[in-house]
Amino acid sequence: MSSRSFRPSKPRRGRPPVDAAALVRESRAEAGQRAAGYRERSLALHGWICAKCAREFDARTLHLLTVHHKDGNHRNNPPDGSNWENLCVYCHEDEHSRELLADYLAGRDRPADD
Ligand SMILES: [Zn+2]
Ligand SMILES: [Zn+2]
Repeated sequence: MSSRSFRPSKPRRGRPPVDAAALVRESRAEAGQRAAGYRERSLALHGWICAKCAREFDARTLHLLTVHHKDGNHRNNPPDGSNWENLCVYCHEDEHSRELLADYLAGRDRPADD
């Protein structure tokens, strides 16, 4: 006894012919959205404020607020935001120049001809 679930017949809509170029454009836009997705999530989680200097941002200045990855791994994007820190571009640059300085002081990144 095979009783299949009742499916109402959907009215068929005429589909436009597949446009390969449009598909490529779509998938590119999707990839871009995925890459930028963590920024949106971090801004939503941590607020439009720099975690270091507490400068606040609005829609006009939001592009100056960036997302720093605490462990330096841009692929490590836990949904709870534990690897993200919202930093203004100035603090972000400062954060990374400190890392470079720390590396330098630790002798990890010494020029070969030193
Ligand atoms: Zn800042
Ligand atoms: Zn960073």
